[in-house]
Amino acid sequence: MTVNQTAQHAIGHIQINHVFKNYGAHTALQDISLDIPAGSVTVIIGPSGSGKSTLLRTINHLERVDGGFIQIDDEFIGYRKEGNKLYELKERDILKQRKSVGYVFQNFNLFPHLNVLQNIIEAPLAHKKLNKDQAILKANQLLGLVGLREKAEAWPKQLSGGQQQRVAIARALALDPKVILFDEPTSALDPELVGEVLSVIKNLAKLGTTMVIVTHEIGFAREVADHVVFMDQGKIIEQGNVQQMLENPKEERTKNFLSRVL
Ligand code: ADP
Repeated sequence: MTVNQTAQHAIGHIQINHVFKNYGAHTALQDISLDIPAGSVTVIIGPSGSGKSTLLRTINHLERVDGGFIQIDDEFIGYRKEGNKLYELKERDILKQRKSVGYVFQNFNLFPHLNVLQNIIEAPLAHKKLNKDQAILKANQLLGLVGLREKAEAWPKQLSGGQQQRVAIARALALDPKVILFDEPTSALDPELVGEVLSVIKNLAKLGTTMVIVTHEIGFAREVADHVVFMDQGKIIEQGNVQQMLENPKEERTKNFLSRVL
């Protein structure tokens, strides 16, 4: 269990309310509701195609929802409310809102034409959140946090996958997000590089930022999660703490899934 269970952070409370998402005739998310306390670590597990990634992407409005809504600290994500109706925000306002939701992608997505330091300072400068000296100072602190202080001047292609992902995590932290979303952060890595990325994420969990992590690494989930959610076919089948979900799941589908991945 993590120290943030005694969460002093009052920010980063995610509420997912009856969310639906369709791709044509296919329903990718079917009535998903989830309350994620500020400062907690939630791990989402489930078979491929069960909607985990889609759910994560709706939390920062990379995907529009077709029903329901999502709030972070009572602010509607992607929408504003007028009377009883929700209206989608303008692109500019969506981008502004996205600053408070960090996203770590499966494939790192670093800017190849920028070095490590430039990758990290890009967003704080673009959003005029920090001046250049402040942004560089902060980037170096974040590189220290992910164990890559000596790589500030390196180019992404000179780094291993594990190092690139650690830079991507530092970059996601540069805007002091309320929430960080991790979409299978280790699935593109060679097995020997998985551990270094998971250990950085484990350290972050202690800092008290709300984290939602989609992963197949059940051992990692056991160590880091306050809450585990099992999804199948666009629905939440079961959720609970590590003990309930990984040691003593109730639903057959959860048991079957775990017996295949453990
Ligand atoms: P998971 O992350 O659990 O593997 P996804 O959220 O990626 O699952 O996908 C859920 C379902 O939605 C799958 O059937 C997938 O094929 C479908 N899907 C995801 N993204 C798209 C898209 N952009 N267009 C059409 N179908 C999609």
